[in-house]
Amino acid sequence: MGHALDFLQDIQLRLNALEADGLLRSPRTVASHQGPELIVDGRLVVCLCSNNYLGLADHPQLLAAANQAAIEYGFGSCAARHIAGTSTAHLEIERALAAFLEQPRALFFTTGYDANLGTIQALSSRDTLVLSDALNHASLIDGCRLGRGKVRVFRHCDAAHLEELLRSERDRFATALVVTESLFSMDGDTAPLPALREICDRYQAALVVDESHAIGVLGPRGRGLCAHHAVRPDLITGTFGKACGASGAFVAGPEVTIRWIENRARSYVFSTASSPTIPKAACAALDLVRQADAERSRLADHALRLRLGLKEMGYEIPDGSTHIIPLMLGTATAATEASRCLLELGVFVHGIRPPTVPAGTSRLRVTPMATHEPRHIDAALQAFRTLRSKLASVR
Ligand SMILES: *Cc1c(COP(=O)(O)O)cnc(C)c1O
Repeated sequence: MGHALDFLQDIQLRLNALEADGLLRSPRTVASHQGPELIVDGRLVVCLCSNNYLGLADHPQLLAAANQAAIEYGFGSCAARHIAGTSTAHLEIERALAAFLEQPRALFFTTGYDANLGTIQALSSRDTLVLSDALNHASLIDGCRLGRGKVRVFRHCDAAHLEELLRSERDRFATALVVTESLFSMDGDTAPLPALREICDRYQAALVVDESHAIGVLGPRGRGLCAHHAVRPDLITGTFGKACGASGAFVAGPEVTIRWIENRARSYVFSTASSPTIPKAACAALDLVRQADAERSRLADHALRLRLGLKEMGYEIPDGSTHIIPLMLGTATAATEASRCLLELGVFVHGIRPPTVPAGTSRLRVTPMATHEPRHIDAALQAFRTLRSKLASVR
């Protein structure tokens, strides 16, 4: 018993260590609609850290759909999907999604975390080889951990490394699963989807693509990066919580795979169905997304201006062109400090630290919205310029 620690004392020590490493997290609070400007900790600031890329979160059609659904169905779903929780609203969004993604079937989940966790877990059995991109989202990683298959991590966006792993290990497993994001959430770069598809075909592996940050933004009518490349993955997952401005998530693919997931994904089977207001709002969001070409083009313009402007100031911005702009700073403390400083200057940008990103790659994640006006982007660039001179004077 010599090493026994009081439980609370132990946790306190661990919290202290997190804080010393600059890794403690505590959210700022928002007291307004989710718009291009937010009231954060009581002050109106320009928001550059929201995933509400198209500005749909407070669209009247979306609010009306949710309100109407609450009147029609009540709020709670009151049971899991397989018990009494499947409403006509849930079936409606699943049909709409399947049509939108041009997939035979779609399954609606309460969150993207659940969708990825349950999908990968359900498909990963003892004789499955699971190959996962090194920078995949935590929900995909956790799905790999919860499944029974053997997990191998391939270098980020490195199709040659993926092929190497398949060549040496594929034969020893009945099935293989390759898991990637299309547009990476924290780096804003994109997976080499055509190359991944070709390799998966050659090695008889299923390709699972998480389109969480691409749905609504990339591809024809916002159908995602797979649609943009005309690549057919075996399964697509994604969330309504980002560009769609709503909530809920999905997996879409062949009837037989979806039937299996519906039966075996623990996060689906053992969880209360989402409120019917959620699939109804998601349906409205899908209608809006289809018609949002003007928003997509404004978002791309803002992203380009920010990328160029920040690069010109001497910030380290990896090459890329998407609306997710990583501004690399290195240490967790540097990222937190930069975020605090920008908030004082009237711009809300979040510092991204481990374990969300690998150690030493802490960053600001800058994301514009279609609903920003040029003056918002001007103000943001001015704040980044001020931050830059402060950083220079510290060195
Ligand atoms: C946000 C995110 C998820 C989780 O979606 P939620 O609906 O927020 O739970 C899954 N995958 C990726 C890549 C994400 O960025």
